[in-house]
Amino acid sequence: MIPKDINLKAVLFDMDGVLFNSMPYHAEAWHKIMKQHGYNLSKEEAYMHEGRTGAGTINLICQRQYGRDASPEEIETIYKEKSAEFAKYPEPDPIAGVWELLQKVKAQGLTAMVVTGSGQLSLINRLDHHFPGVFSRELMVTAYDVKHGKPNPEPYLMALEKGGFTNKEAIVIENAPLGVEAGVAANLYTIAVNTGPLPNNALLDAGANALYPTMQALCDNWDTLLSK
Ligand code: CA
Repeated sequence: MIPKDINLKAVLFDMDGVLFNSMPYHAEAWHKIMKQHGYNLSKEEAYMHEGRTGAGTINLICQRQYGRDASPEEIETIYKEKSAEFAKYPEPDPIAGVWELLQKVKAQGLTAMVVTGSGQLSLINRLDHHFPGVFSRELMVTAYDVKHGKPNPEPYLMALEKGGFTNKEAIVIENAPLGVEAGVAANLYTIAVNTGPLPNNALLDAGANALYPTMQALCDNWDTLLSK
């Protein structure tokens, strides 16, 4: 159950791995394009960086391999190619259970917001198609809004500001360790849903307040979670 001092008004949803089953394609695209540019980034490691901005991931790998930041041109080229590669893959399906959960959230009069480090327009533009009437563009936080990205709390703090909510009026739903860290760092109650290949401990160690194995399990337990 969420803490009693939370007066819930908004639910902040991460996008990749929470709304869409898009992480396998992201991991594949990162691995392939980074390799073409001479960088080592395995698909498995890509899951550990999930939630960072593209620039953040590229810089981190460049620092590790060459001890320097990537140039702005290099970042732009690699991220553009990675996005184009991602767009070649089949359209990712919404994660099972998420539509049902969003209907509950809406029926309870709560505001649903998307808070993502992604700048993947092909996916952001499909939010309305898959989840009609749920998310408004004005309340969205994407890679285009933030400077730091997750695990920095900035994206979630910006979401609170955009929506006019306090940290006691919103909760976070995340699937990645860095995303959980960002939610916790923003002093928000953060629910982890382990939709990927990482062990549960990766999410619990990041500070998750609750953990569910699937979005369907979260949806099925939603009313219990919110009961006071
Ligand atoms: Ca995610």
